Amino acid sequence: MEFCIQVYFNRKGMKYDVAIIGGGIAGLSLSIDLKKRGYDIIVIEKGNYPRHKVCGEYISMESQNYLQKICPALINLNLPVINNFKLTAGNNKEFTTKLDLGGFGISRYLLEEMLFKEAEKQGVKFMLDCKAKDVNSDDNNSYVIKTNSGNIMASLVCNSTGRNSNFKTTEKTSANSTNYVGIKYHIKLSRDPKLIEIHNFPGGYCGISNIEEGLSCLCYIVNSKNLNEVNNSIPELEKTFLFKNSNLEKIFTTAEFIFKEPVTVSGINFLIREPVTDNSFFLGDAAGSMAPITGNGMSMGLRSASVLADNIDQYFSKKITKQQLVFNYSGFWNKEFSTRIKLSRYLQKLSEYPFLTKRTIGLFNLFPTLANGIIKQTHGNPF
Ligand SMILES: Cc1cc2nc3c(=O)[nH]c(=O)nc-3n(C[C@H](O)[C@H](O)[C@H](O)COP(=O)(O)OP(=O)(O)OC[C@H]3O[C@@H](n4cnc5c(N)ncnc54)[C@H](O)[C@@H]3O)c2cc1C
Repeated sequence: MEFCIQVYFNRKGMKYDVAIIGGGIAGLSLSIDLKKRGYDIIVIEKGNYPRHKVCGEYISMESQNYLQKICPALINLNLPVINNFKLTAGNNKEFTTKLDLGGFGISRYLLEEMLFKEAEKQGVKFMLDCKAKDVNSDDNNSYVIKTNSGNIMASLVCNSTGRNSNFKTTEKTSANSTNYVGIKYHIKLSRDPKLIEIHNFPGGYCGISNIEEGLSCLCYIVNSKNLNEVNNSIPELEKTFLFKNSNLEKIFTTAEFIFKEPVTVSGINFLIREPVTDNSFFLGDAAGSMAPITGNGMSMGLRSASVLADNIDQYFSKKITKQQLVFNYSGFWNKEFSTRIKLSRYLQKLSEYPFLTKRTIGLFNLFPTLANGIIKQTHGNPF
């Protein structure tokens, strides 16, 4: 029996320069950056746009220039700038500080939609509702990506399939056995728009900061064991654990909730992987995911997209070899992110225990420069 498999080429009937698997923030940004440099790009995305995603929706200022460069429409949005930070535990322990670099707020729904529209406008080809299953290379300059809608030919493959990727890369740090659950709402609440608050509770923490249109994003991450303890009921989880912090109880009982049901994600873990595996270049969460306590996973994806685009451009312009491309990108990734991810894993673990968070708050109040030093470690430099 013979099967006929559709093979996709670009408009000139040739293979694409770069196929990007996964069109989240990392993949979309890379697609626009490379397209603007003149390359033929295809994005394979198993979902569609726009859509909500579990995320605290706080983007560190380090990425603002880059985001506005690749998607100028973002400049016209009057997004809230966030530069005050508050950490609380229990009922009466709190630490507040100014954030040196700070960030801004935008929902993933709006951000991905705008990046998608910009990519389409620039001429990036999309295969939506299309899942990539496998990548093979016959030699180092030709790749075949198998998807559920046919095969795609490309000269390079970048993988930005996120934390729960079906593509297995080499793990450099083993997953700890803890799994976390993420839960997000959009709420209306009168609050300081410049403030990002993190409220600790047994098993996790909840972040609140403003996004577009006067809304706030309320997003928490909790050890899955806590959810199991209350028979997987989210309202019970909130009453039993989150309300142990009176700040959270007040917010939950006074805010107007915009979604009927929260957006949820399970199976969250924090790993560092090899940024280049089988000659595919991994970026964003697919290369390594940072605990949200440090709030900077999106910037990590954006910075990787920017550096990778630059190196791919040099490779296609024959300024560097494929070997140098691999070496440069791996070197950059490990230098820039390995320590940040390790620190975020440590802070994540610590933040599950209110007594430890209370002690940390005590220390921060005694030595504010210690807190500012740690916050600095979790943010990079503008690019
Ligand atoms: C609770 C929580 C709160 C967070 N808060 C913040 C925050 O406030 N600030 C911050 O900067 N970061 C935050 N993060 C981290 C941030 O959400 C991630 O770092 C970011 O989403 C990574 O983007 P990405 O593009 O790498 O992956 P994703 O956004 O996960 O995108 C991956 C894409 O790949 C697609 N895909 C997957 N497999 C395939 C396949 N086989 N074929 C085709 N498509 C595929 C998916 O559909 C998806 O669209 C938070 C994370 C969590 C869990």
